[in-house]
Amino acid sequence: TLSDRLTSVLQNLRGKGKLSDADIDSTAREIRIALLEADVALPVVRAFIAQVKERAKGAEVSEALNPAQQVIKIVNEELIAILGGETRRLNLAKNPPSVIMLAGLQGAGKTTLAGKLALWLKKQGHAPLLVACDLQRPNAVTQLQVVGERAGVTTFAPEPGNGVGDPVDVARRGIEEAKRAQHDIVVVDTAGRLGVDEELMRQAADIRDAVRPDETLFVVDAMIGQDAVTTAEAFRDGVGFTGVVLTKLDGDARGGAALSVREVTGQPILFASNGEKLEDFDTFHPDRMASRILGMGDMLTLIEQAEKAFDQEKAEEAAAKLGAGELTLEDFLEQMLAVRKMGPIGNLLGMLPGAGQMKDQLAQVDDKQLDRVQAIIRGMTPAERENPKIINSSRRQRIAKGSGVAVREVNDLVDRFFQAKKTMQQMMGRFGMGPGGGRKN
Ligand code: GDP
Ligand code: MG
Repeated sequence: TLSDRLTSVLQNLRGKGKLSDADIDSTAREIRIALLEADVALPVVRAFIAQVKERAKGAEVSEALNPAQQVIKIVNEELIAILGGETRRLNLAKNPPSVIMLAGLQGAGKTTLAGKLALWLKKQGHAPLLVACDLQRPNAVTQLQVVGERAGVTTFAPEPGNGVGDPVDVARRGIEEAKRAQHDIVVVDTAGRLGVDEELMRQAADIRDAVRPDETLFVVDAMIGQDAVTTAEAFRDGVGFTGVVLTKLDGDARGGAALSVREVTGQPILFASNGEKLEDFDTFHPDRMASRILGMGDMLTLIEQAEKAFDQEKAEEAAAKLGAGELTLEDFLEQMLAVRKMGPIGNLLGMLPGAGQMKDQLAQVDDKQLDRVQAIIRGMTPAERENPKIINSSRRQRIAKGSGVAVREVNDLVDRFFQAKKTMQQMMGRFGMGPGGGRKN
């Protein structure tokens, strides 16, 4: 796997300066293989790698990650951005019924999806109606009726015994029925062929013109891999679609189709289907898909942990300084920023040895205040940050003005800093962690 291959590239070096071209190239080569193995189409791989390289070249070397890890982190972030950049909810009509039309090759999972979608919509308080417009295969209508029954929703179908009906006519009458019976959403199932063909496209386009869908979902089997691109292009040009649903993700497909379809058509992936049961269905999660495509969930976890550990190391350094009475406002700010990156402010408490007593000071700081604190400290000169004792009242006024806050807030911050420092020193003293007795590593 990719992680195995990369492990040989990974050394626990902490780089300096910018990422080197050699680091970027060797990692990019491995990523490229991973993407191709995940069945991402070649032109998409090329464009994507070029974009990642561009971003990696400008990136400062992280102190927390080695170069390969850092490139992977960038790749992962870019993948998530592309897969989910425009993740959005279903587009529903202002005046019901909203119409959702399903399109895609035969076997893609449209009819199954109709049932899944119906159940999902029903759970959200909607009253969907399924409309059977696949009159191509003899049992297609029955199949839709069966999934409809399982989902507990009504299915509108042509009366049996009238020979092969006209799907466009059924679609039109389905909408009328929805209005009459007060269904607020109509899901239109359509026919698919094994390959893309003109007649199928024309029929789908005719249904589209008849029902004017609020959302046309292109349903694509994740297992078809490279073919996803040509199929998606054919449906984009032949019918047009506003969103994508990826099916059969329970199989062993690595999901490259997701990236290809997203890149080539620019339409968002709205849902993912991962099984034959109606419940095997969810909104699409870009982060899970990115990690699946890269095939390196473990590596990504490792990167996350490395970054956290690094933040913690910094926190411990600061705590040690604090014990020695050397804490500066710069450290204080760095701490707060590190904490913010890690989540709720309370996490800081866990990182400082025995710092429970600082809880009161820190509990009062919420995220908005943190912005102001940051602004205030940024408004100080290096000398003031290094040695807050020199911050007299005229300096306080200057700082307040420069950072756009009231003098009172500068006073509060300085007070809080000295209070925190004092509390910590007492605590360190009690635990024998002060100068001479402290941590040396
Ligand atoms: P349609 O021709 O596009 O309407 O596709 P169907 O809904 O009839 O699905 C074709 C086959 O794929 C059926 O056997 C489904 O049970 C199966 N199927 C659909 N979605 C999924 C899925 O997410 N996972 C798995 N494993 N099978 C699926
Ligand atoms: Mg079908």
